Amino acid sequence: MDSQIAKILREADQIILSAKSREDLERVYIKFFGKNSDLNKLTKKILTLPKEQKPKAGQQINLVKRELEKLFEEAKTRLSSQLSALSSPIDPTAPGKRIQLGHLHLVSQAIEEIVEIFSKLGFLLQSYPEIDWDWYTFESLNMPKNHPARDEWETFFIKASPDPKYGSQVLTPHTSNGQVREMQRVKKPPIRMINIARCYRRQIDVSHTPMFHQFEGLLIDKNVSIPDLKGTFNFFTQNFFGPDRVTRLRPHHFRFTEPSFEVDITCDVCDGRGCRMCKSGWLELGGAGMVHPKVLKSGGIDAQIYSGFAFGWGIERTIAMKTNTDDIRLLYQNDIRFLEQF
Ligand SMILES: [Zn+2]
Repeated sequence: MDSQIAKILREADQIILSAKSREDLERVYIKFFGKNSDLNKLTKKILTLPKEQKPKAGQQINLVKRELEKLFEEAKTRLSSQLSALSSPIDPTAPGKRIQLGHLHLVSQAIEEIVEIFSKLGFLLQSYPEIDWDWYTFESLNMPKNHPARDEWETFFIKASPDPKYGSQVLTPHTSNGQVREMQRVKKPPIRMINIARCYRRQIDVSHTPMFHQFEGLLIDKNVSIPDLKGTFNFFTQNFFGPDRVTRLRPHHFRFTEPSFEVDITCDVCDGRGCRMCKSGWLELGGAGMVHPKVLKSGGIDAQIYSGFAFGWGIERTIAMKTNTDDIRLLYQNDIRFLEQF
């Protein structure tokens, strides 16, 4: 009996696995389990065995049956997966694939929000070149030739022969190149501009990336003074950050504004106690000030009649301050685990 069982198993392995269709498999099934199968004959033979041999023989037959069933199951699975691969690539009855919806990148979201907030105050969105002449970027903004920002260590220069009037070309290190361009475009104030663009500087650490975005505000009209500037900042910070964040103006020096300020906002990561991001509890939102008369003159505006204020702030820093992000490089690492949180 042992040798017969071994023979059935040997055959089964080859025959079952070589079945090419379900019909094939059914035929093979009958061959192994049908009335005339060897297995059936063996089962009947048990009745003729001496009483003490019956239990062992029964166990052996059951073992073979289980083994064969297993082989049939495997063959069935293999055949059905082959069949589904062969069938039409489009099954109109199959449930649709769920398309994962993404969302705008944080920087794009912030740009939309900033534009919307300032548009409520009448500021219009303008775009100015990200590769611009030295004249618009520095010279017209009252920045002397020896200003550190004009140094190659700070600014990326384009390899091209300089223009006799406008000088070299640079990757704009700030959005302030839009100031004089906007004055030339409008010619006669009032001017209320928001210029948003990518800026480029040789810098990288937790709070700087070599490419970043700035938004530049410029307002020029008659009788514009510092309270107008403060009111505008308050309106923006309360709408963008919420009423809990506090700002302060710190006297500073910029060539293109007089007087000049740094605008700081309390750090939300540490609530003003000091942390890796802010160090002192305050974060610098950016520079601001009253437009320097020489800059107005560059743009062809009469400084006796008109005055104005300007500010240029980094969008990535602004997002970091709003979202408690302590490393702004995360914004550009495209790690979905980070981006999905917003
Ligand atoms: Zn902090």
